[in-house]
Order: sequence, then structure tokens, then C-alpha cells
Amino acid sequence: MFDQVEAFCRPASVAEALRMLQRDKGRARIVAGGTDVVVAGGDGVRVLIDITRAGLNYIRPKAGAVAIGATTTLSEIEESALLGKLAGGIIPRAAATCGSTTIRNMATLGGNLANASPAADMAVALLALDASAVIAEARGRRKLPLAEYLAGASAGRFSASILVEVTFPAPPAGKRCGWSFQKLGRTALDISLVSVAAGVELDTKGRVKWARIALGAVAPTAMRAEAAEQLLVGRTPAVDAIAEAAAEVARVVRPISDVRASAEYRREMSAVLVARALGESIAAAGGSR
Ligand SMILES: Cc1cc2nc3c(=O)[nH]c(=O)nc-3n(C[C@H](O)[C@H](O)[C@H](O)COP(=O)(O)OP(=O)(O)OC[C@H]3O[C@@H](n4cnc5c(N)ncnc54)[C@H](O)[C@@H]3O)c2cc1C
Repeated sequence: MFDQVEAFCRPASVAEALRMLQRDKGRARIVAGGTDVVVAGGDGVRVLIDITRAGLNYIRPKAGAVAIGATTTLSEIEESALLGKLAGGIIPRAAATCGSTTIRNMATLGGNLANASPAADMAVALLALDASAVIAEARGRRKLPLAEYLAGASAGRFSASILVEVTFPAPPAGKRCGWSFQKLGRTALDISLVSVAAGVELDTKGRVKWARIALGAVAPTAMRAEAAEQLLVGRTPAVDAIAEAAAEVARVVRPISDVRASAEYRREMSAVLVARALGESIAAAGGSR
């Protein structure tokens, strides 16, 4: 908890929040839903900057892309009609698996990503959609690939910046595209032991045009499995092709053992969930296995 907090600020804009972060450098912490930050606490934290009134709560189409503001809650994402129509609804599906309703009512997308937990479920779905992060810092705003943002946040490189929004190009759509989100947790309320998002498009002959595979809780941050994706391209996605892709994933993941599961179990389950996610994606794209 925060025993030494002297001020709780509610800036009305990102610019004001940035000024506060700069002014109290090293002593201030951004808070959005508080579901991670309150649990973690912080000894040196004297100032909490609540950004939930800084105008970052939105889900909107944006020139061939979609933008989700950082303080949009996971409940709002779960219920979004716009997001439900895109990529088999994997973004709302991922949101719906995060904790309980009460957690999702508070938890925000920005907090999920800025916390850079290996098990951040939203990161997995968004990586599969080639998402980017827009951050605001003293010298202005910039956009960077989500994977780069997660790596930087995990290394503490963005402590002086605010995640403003996440954008992703409108995902390929049509009856030959299929998507899936799969999560394995100890219970339905637990964080992931492994989570997987996948997508495929089949050509008119039933061969894979492209495939996307992203995983959570099996590496220092959520990750894409590009080599496994490439193994599928140009092939009819029969059981052997899926098994090869799943085996490649099991080879490249870097899970740890902790109180929830052993590294060996996570590795094996990565392959199982990838096979399951590819199977669902291929079926949704009209393919057979
Ligand atoms: C019981 C429980 C169950 C959970 N289950 C899941 C689960 O199944 N899946 C899952 O992925 N997560 C889960 N979580 C983790 C957490 O709820 C989510 O990661 C949530 O999305 C965090 O968002 P928040 O707004 O509460 O973040 P906060 O706690 O407010 O902030 C988290 C961190 O991010 C920083 N931050 C927040 N917003 C920004 C921003 N816009 N820019 C820069 N920095 C920012 C804060 O300073 C802090 O370091 C669970 C948590 C609990 C307590």
C-alpha cells in the first residue's frame, strides 16, 4: 500500500498529467484503475496521478484503423460492439477473461500494457493484430510497435511517459479469415498460465495466406511466434502442419517456473493452446483439418 502519499491528483488532460509527472519525478506514480498499482504499492511514492479524467476513455475508428484510449476499462472493451465485429472479437474475448467483473470495471487497457506483465491478456490479443502504442512524453507524442513498448515498459524505460492509446490497422476480414483467443488459468478468475491469440486467412484452394500467433505468460513479455506463423504459410492446414507450428512454439517460448506452474508445464501447454487456437481459427475460416 501507499503509506507515505502526500497528494492524489486528478489532471484534466494528458499535458497536465505529464507536467505533474515531470514536477514530481521519481516520487510520482500514474494510477488508472489501480488494480495493479494498489496491490504493488511503492515505498518512495508520494504523489499519485489519477489519469482517468484526462480524456483517454474511447474506442473509435481512425482512418482504416481503430484506436482505444488508455483509460478505457476492460468492461467497456468487453461490451464494445465495434470491437466485437473485428477479428472474431478476440479483443473483447481477451478482456472478458481478465479477473472478475469488479476488476474489469476498474482495470484499464493502459494499465494492463504499462504494467508489462508477461501474463497481460490484452497484450496477447493486440500483438496478434499488429497493434502500436502511442505515448506522450516531454518532447511530444510518438507511436511505436506494441512489442517495443512492452519491452521498454518491462525495462522501466517509459516511467516518464504516459501511454495515450493503442491503435491497430483494421484486421483482414471476410469468410476466409478466422481468429481465436485461448486462455489457460488455474481458475476462471486467475491470471494466465498460458494465453494464445491466433488468426489465419485461407486462399481459394484452402492454403494459408498468412497466420498470426501471439502468446502470453511464457516469456518476459507477451510475444509473437513469427517462425511458427511462417511454417504455415502456403500449406493446407492439416493436422501435421498445425502440429509442426505448435512444436515450433514450444521450442521458442521461454517460460519460468513459479507458484502457479512449472516452466515445463507452460511449455507443453503453449503447444496445446496454439494447436487449439489454430484449429478454431482455421474452422472459422472455412478450412478443414
Ligand atoms: C484479482 C485480479 C485479477 C486479475 N486478473 C487479470 C487477468 O486475468 N489478466 C490480466 O491481464 N490482468 C489481470 N489482472 C491485472 C490487472 O487487473 C490488469 O493488468 C489491469 O488491466 C491493470 O489496469 P489498471 O488500470 O488497474 O492499472 P493500474 O493499477 O492503475 O496501473 C498499473 C501500472 O501501469 C501504470 N499505468 C497505468 N496506466 C498508465 C498509462 N496510461 N500510462 C503509463 N503508465 C500507466 C501505473 O503507474 C502502474 O505502474 C488482475 C488483477 C487482479 C487484482
